[in-house]
Amino acid sequence: MILILKPNISLESTEYKTLEAHLQHLTNIEYRVHNVQGASQTLTEIYLIGSTSALAIDEMKAFRAVANVVRISEEYKVLGRHKEDSRGTGFTYQGIEFSQDTLNIFAGLCAVDSPESVETMMKALRENGQTCTRMGAYKPRTSPYSFQGHGPNCLPYVFELAGKYGIKVIAMEVTHESHIAEIDGALEATGRPTGVMLQIGTRNTQNFELLKSVGRQQEFPVLLKRGFGITLDESLHAAEYLASEGNHKVIFGLRGMKTNIGDPHRNMVDFAHVPVVKRLTRMPVCVDPSHSVGSRHRSSDNILDVMHVTAQGVIAGANMILVDFHPNPNVALVDGPQALRLEELPMFLEDVRICREAYEKRLANAS
Ligand code: PEP
Ligand code: MN
Repeated sequence: MILILKPNISLESTEYKTLEAHLQHLTNIEYRVHNVQGASQTLTEIYLIGSTSALAIDEMKAFRAVANVVRISEEYKVLGRHKEDSRGTGFTYQGIEFSQDTLNIFAGLCAVDSPESVETMMKALRENGQTCTRMGAYKPRTSPYSFQGHGPNCLPYVFELAGKYGIKVIAMEVTHESHIAEIDGALEATGRPTGVMLQIGTRNTQNFELLKSVGRQQEFPVLLKRGFGITLDESLHAAEYLASEGNHKVIFGLRGMKTNIGDPHRNMVDFAHVPVVKRLTRMPVCVDPSHSVGSRHRSSDNILDVMHVTAQGVIAGANMILVDFHPNPNVALVDGPQALRLEELPMFLEDVRICREAYEKRLANAS
């Protein structure tokens, strides 16, 4: 059961203390208090876990601190959609809204290789009206002998250049909890010129200790990639690890599933799950066409497969696109073969705009 408290209620108030005293005396019921920053206000939600079926909704609603009560009807306790649950989806970060109704594009480098690439990329983004990007500093690689990313060494120039070019949010993968402090330290040292969305990669979707560490902090929102070899349900439970620790600012990323049935694509594109995740949970849903397709192959219609699958995600209501670009893919240190070129950025953005407009027309048509 979830008790949603009245907006801005203080944990020191008599109303809250009365409720707290009651909760402490319930047998076989534990509770966790979460502060949830929504798009417009901060709400306190209390999650009651255990034998809550005997609790009456009206009895809990009678407490003066309580605005609403939701009985948990689905498995995804925090991020799921429950019956008669009218809570919003998403959050605002760095002045940008991320929800199931918005669409944000994160075009950028799979891996930071040099300050020159970062600057050229960010300049192109600004010229095309973009305020978000992706920049990998910590790269999980199949071989220990492959380039592992520049790690903390590149953070100062990445953040400074972001500030220079008006980039507000950078999606950046972390593979170890120590990376959170490194990122925060580098942001602090550079005067916080930008924001970071911590990315958990598909190889770490079930790294439960990493999930708990990232979930315990509430400074940075999180992009959790779906595990490439596990069920959707298992990946959604991984998202719950983040949320159950207190961080509800979670975006769920689809990036294709590992199977040779998807050949010649690098992974089997799974964007049919965009509406499924939106119905099962309140998370905004991201699609990553680059890691799904894994190449610059184009169809007989002259459209790149990467753009075709982006279109499939967007027309189905995706809320975020994470896509690899590189000023010179031939020299990119990671995933060059799948990167789009900067001169393709305007065409890419226009294709996304066309698909989003079509999705909005589909919404109107369905209502
Ligand atoms: C990435 O986005 O750079 C990445 C490594 O993706 P994934 O975890 O989906 O393979
Ligand atoms: Mn990559």
